[in-house]
Amino acid sequence: MWEDRKMGAQGVRLALCFLVLLVTVSACKSGDEAPEEPEVREFPGVDERLWPFFIRFEEQAEQRGVIIDLVEEGITGVIQPIDEDNVAGTCNFNGRVPNHVMIDEAFFNAVGDLFREFIIFHELGHCSLFRDHLETADQFGRCTSIMRSGVEDCRDNYSFGTRSGYLDELYDPQFRGDIFRN
Ligand SMILES: [Zn+2]
Repeated sequence: MWEDRKMGAQGVRLALCFLVLLVTVSACKSGDEAPEEPEVREFPGVDERLWPFFIRFEEQAEQRGVIIDLVEEGITGVIQPIDEDNVAGTCNFNGRVPNHVMIDEAFFNAVGDLFREFIIFHELGHCSLFRDHLETADQFGRCTSIMRSGVEDCRDNYSFGTRSGYLDELYDPQFRGDIFRN
């Protein structure tokens, strides 16, 4: 199990400044034909508030040539209070509840879309990509990966401007499965 530190108060304040992106799904009807089923991808065993992020995780992977099916992988997820201090999310990939993402409810409610994505993608990095923590920092002390543990020295730098580069790094095949190698 991995425990991930919440961002500091500054990060939360910063997060609140960002706009929330809304994912909308539309269904269309035409003429006499039977109405088409809305194309809503469903994730059994996953809190519906997590679905937009699960869909986005698959889409961002696909844009980088990585095919991921979180339903097939049997990944489940909940948003609920996590009692432990400063833990925003966890992911189990073995044990009694395999492939299970847990996001702290207070954290989820306190931050905007971008930082929800940050922590959910981090947990899916463990559960789906089997990535380990990576604490590397650049010359300015900024974390080079969203797979940082949050307890080491590097500073988070996830923003709309840096997101794409971080996601390139997240899905980079050279790191996939390193949980089993480290
Ligand atoms: Zn982690």
